[in-house]
Amino acid sequence: MIEIDGAFGEGGGQIVRSSLTLSLATGQPVRLYNIRAGRKKPGLLRQHLTSVQAAARVGNARVEGAAPGSREVTFEPGPVTGGTYHFSVGSAGSTTLVLQTILPVLLTSDAPSKVVIEGGTHNPFAPPFPFLERTFIPLINRMGPNVRLTLHRPGFFPAGGGKLEVDIEPMARLGRIELTGRGEVQGIRATAIVAGLPRHIAERELKVLGRQLDLPASRLQVQEERAAHGPGNVVLIEIALPEVTEVVTGFGQRGKPAERVAREAAMEAKAFLEAGVPVGQHLADQLLLPLALGSGGVYVTQSLTPHTETNIEVIRRFTDCAIRRLEEPGGAVRIVVDPPATESPAGEFH
Ligand code: AMP
Repeated sequence: MIEIDGAFGEGGGQIVRSSLTLSLATGQPVRLYNIRAGRKKPGLLRQHLTSVQAAARVGNARVEGAAPGSREVTFEPGPVTGGTYHFSVGSAGSTTLVLQTILPVLLTSDAPSKVVIEGGTHNPFAPPFPFLERTFIPLINRMGPNVRLTLHRPGFFPAGGGKLEVDIEPMARLGRIELTGRGEVQGIRATAIVAGLPRHIAERELKVLGRQLDLPASRLQVQEERAAHGPGNVVLIEIALPEVTEVVTGFGQRGKPAERVAREAAMEAKAFLEAGVPVGQHLADQLLLPLALGSGGVYVTQSLTPHTETNIEVIRRFTDCAIRRLEEPGGAVRIVVDPPATESPAGEFH
């Protein structure tokens, strides 16, 4: 049984999710302890608990300790089976992080899957739905599977009530991917989403984004969401590159002026553009598992976040995958992921 100290490294929910995914993918049982020990509300929150339950369902696992606030979980995986699944976080907890847990193994499972998840879809500290749709999933599809995402209803913190659907046509093994050069920026556009809030919030945000990023009015768009169960405000900056579309997000929050939300997002977008790399900081930690469990690959990113560093360590604990980090000029980092060689199927020549 693999033992993972949940307080290690970044010490948050990602260690839990990555451990579950790697346990499912490699068939090795895991005991997680000190789960989110250093966080303000330690242990499993609704969102993490739903991830444990979702991993257990798709992987026919035996689980002990899956309860709200639990700081220790034992997870014994069975075979992963594709199929129709429905999970509900039961709060505004992130649906996309539940998906992050089970998607890597459903991509290579025995049958297609349809997964519906209810909860928050545009949450701070999680990939917002548009990031999955435009940044992450197109790269996954480039590795071979066919994943389609549908947003049935957006869900914002604190009301939640969002609903997303994922349809997955799996393949036997994910292909390799290389994202080493940024190339010319093809275009930048900004969207300000408001749900149940005055339109002028979005307009003020776009004014700042237009000025900061030097965008004409035709590249600025207000999106009013009428179906959401509660108020919400998000700004999205979409940067199209030849190989990747990066989505930088700013989250509106009560008491935070719209101008500041936009300014902070613009600063993040500028830092990404100045780094001259194809892979942003969030994508960098999220690509590690699909690459390590598939055919590997290479990517160049900005300086590594604690999430990326921690994910590398967790992957090392479960697999013989070699992950190297090489310094590039200007502070960028090249990540090289080499899974152990697998035998070719009988009769196949390379
Ligand atoms: P944790 O904080 O451990 O729950 O992990 C958060 C996960 O959400 C990581 O995989 C982050 O890369 C991802 N994430 C957080 N914020 C964003 C964002 N604005 N865009 C995309 N992904 C994000």
